Amino acid sequence: MIVKNRKEEFLSYLEDTSNLKGKADLLYLPEEEQEVVKIVRLCGEKKIPLTCSGSRTGTVGGCVPYGGAILSLEKLSKIKDIDPDRRLVTLHPGVRLDNLESELKKFDLTFKSSPTESLASIGGAISTSASGVRGFKYGGIRNYVKKLKVILIDGTILEITRGKTFSCKGSFNFSIKGRDFKFSLPSYRMPPVKHSGGYFVREGMDLIDLFIGSEGTLGIVVEATLEVQKSSQDVFDCIVFFKDEKRAINFVEKIKKLKQFDMLDPSSLEFFDTNSLSFLRAVYPHLKEFKSAVYFEQEVEENYKDTMELWMKAIEDSGASLDDTWFGDTKKEREKIYEFRHKLPQLVNEFLKSYNQVKIASDIAVGDSSFREMYRFYKEIGECSKVNYINFGHIGENHLHFNFLPKNDSESQKAKECILEIVKKALSLGGTVSAEHGIGKLKKSYLEIMYGKFHIKEMVELKRYFDPNFLLGRGNLFDVE
Ligand SMILES: Cc1cc2nc3c(=O)[nH]c(=O)nc-3n(C[C@H](O)[C@H](O)[C@H](O)COP(=O)(O)OP(=O)(O)OC[C@H]3O[C@@H](n4cnc5c(N)ncnc54)[C@H](O)[C@@H]3O)c2cc1C
Repeated sequence: MIVKNRKEEFLSYLEDTSNLKGKADLLYLPEEEQEVVKIVRLCGEKKIPLTCSGSRTGTVGGCVPYGGAILSLEKLSKIKDIDPDRRLVTLHPGVRLDNLESELKKFDLTFKSSPTESLASIGGAISTSASGVRGFKYGGIRNYVKKLKVILIDGTILEITRGKTFSCKGSFNFSIKGRDFKFSLPSYRMPPVKHSGGYFVREGMDLIDLFIGSEGTLGIVVEATLEVQKSSQDVFDCIVFFKDEKRAINFVEKIKKLKQFDMLDPSSLEFFDTNSLSFLRAVYPHLKEFKSAVYFEQEVEENYKDTMELWMKAIEDSGASLDDTWFGDTKKEREKIYEFRHKLPQLVNEFLKSYNQVKIASDIAVGDSSFREMYRFYKEIGECSKVNYINFGHIGENHLHFNFLPKNDSESQKAKECILEIVKKALSLGGTVSAEHGIGKLKKSYLEIMYGKFHIKEMVELKRYFDPNFLLGRGNLFDVE
């Protein structure tokens, strides 16, 4: 096992993509599960805070240590087993999503949920309950975690199989390997939208769901078994350009209706607003006349021609031109579309870097019936702020990433105030403060606004049950005074 105790050797482990900077005394890089058990137990006994680090692509400071030790599981990166018949893969937490995908390809399998940035680790994706571009059809990683092996702060190894241990009347009461577990769950109701913020709680819930999305605060994930899928025979994707945002939103609503009637079933439905296209115009100058775009991906198992015709009709009915639509069903065409979609975050990062600023963004989601009101609010607040902004993302799940792009500190301050208003508006519409990035250290105040102090205390008590000295992922989700 490698242990680094000179700060200069582990500077990059003190931050994630949020720009939050932490501090720590040492970094552990175990190579085997038994080493993880020893480290965790040692930290438990000596009361050393321990923060788990995945690939550090997180956006909310979850892996940023607030003192003590860092536990990086990047060397625990084996895919232990791929079972093509049962479509199950058992793997270490340090496996990156891109590596998993290339191994699955050899068996004509894929992980369709494709949760999040491809450099993220499986451990990080599970611990933030991540979801990705295909969330519209497949949901997040939570739906595919079948087994987890978790190390608790006293070194206990908890092996959890989905479908075996359920809560009853707001609490869990079970034994694993002769040890009894009995604890109450927080009594809040999670918002009925795409959501990843705070502990997962539901009546009759599966124990495994408590650990998924717990952001390294209850235990360390050292192994997971995921359900994967067979690769689709045919897939096509499109970018449909619109002359205004209204038509794009009407198009999305129409597609959602067709989905309800089982007529179309896109795996992705993503939106670009006028400002996003203005940004992209630097690289794609011919986008001049367009004010909005919708990206979709469609898998087709049968009736390719009929499905294609339905899409073409929907596109034309919504006032877009088929001639202006980018269509991709060959490798080359799909790569062009992929490039277009990924250009935006890249351009945004370059912009912010040039002004020495960081992005100030929301991760809220609301229900279908509230989306239009939320959208009006985004526009209103964006225009009033006088700060550059772009709004894009997972419109299928009413989950847009509203990004302010401040040019100086006073704009940055204004943007933060506006994001708080966006969060409050989403909550007033029954939405969530975090649909996919989690809470980490940066969104704790939003979680408290969402659930209130009483329910935060219930979360603290749940954590105390598993981690009496509050050592794991210290500073994530809530503060403990
Ligand atoms: C360009 C970009 C695009 C992104 N797109 C998406 C997106 O589409 N969807 C989405 O959900 N997120 C997205 N994210 C956010 C980020 O990729 C996810 O939150 C991801 O799941 C983090 O994984 P990671 O391995 O980088 O974890 P880290 O950032 O290292 O850690 C995240 C959290 O997980 C905990 N953790 C890590 N490993 C373990 C473990 N083995 N056991 C216990 N706890 C652990 C950490 O302590 C921390 O709290 C994006 C980020 C970037 C930079």
